[in-house]
Amino acid sequence: MKKARKSFGEDYDCQKEWPEDCGVQCGDRGVVLSTNGSYYTAFFEAFPKNPSCFLRGEGSSIEDAEEKCWEKYLKVISCNHEMERRDRRDGYGYCKYCSYSSMVFEPLDKCCKCGIPTRYSVDYKGNHYCKKHNRVKPKDPNSGGIFDDSKRRIPRKRKKFLKYAVTNKFRQDGIKGKVYLEMSPMGSRIFKCGGFTLRILFRKQEIGLIQEYGKKIGG
Ligand SMILES: [Zn+2]
Ligand SMILES: [Zn+2]
Repeated sequence: MKKARKSFGEDYDCQKEWPEDCGVQCGDRGVVLSTNGSYYTAFFEAFPKNPSCFLRGEGSSIEDAEEKCWEKYLKVISCNHEMERRDRRDGYGYCKYCSYSSMVFEPLDKCCKCGIPTRYSVDYKGNHYCKKHNRVKPKDPNSGGIFDDSKRRIPRKRKKFLKYAVTNKFRQDGIKGKVYLEMSPMGSRIFKCGGFTLRILFRKQEIGLIQEYGKKIGG
């Protein structure tokens, strides 16, 4: 049976027949950020290759979370996906019927220099730039703004803000210890502290965290 890397402690022995090339990881104590506050839960995450996607189950125990994740996986592999953009403009799509999501569409935004659809970069006025034309992107005159770069890599300054906010959150929840940042296979950011993990998948979660817990910085 497959072993799943755990955030802390010994690897977990999977109960399900995950494909050989499917990445898996789990934890007893993950922090979940939601629109109405946050909560702690056991989680199990899978990164199947075929189709390539990210699946997550949550539950009272890792076994329970794996079960939920496995149910999602079974649905994904038997589904005739019908993809929709929802509120995304970057080409990322979600299946209407199952948990499958992936970069399946062309971006809706076009490079303001050459007109090709792109999700590469956006300037402070909201104009888009492809990879090639990103070098002519104007600098934000009010820079110091922390949300002015849409590229995946977090600018150093914003990373500092984010880490500060996350540390603050952990402390307010009574969790002590050093805070570490890791990148996951799907490009999300995982903070670890004192046996807990906090995963950030979307920019709006990042922004929410900074707004809620990062007030003291720079202010
Ligand atoms: Zn589907
Ligand atoms: Zn261009």
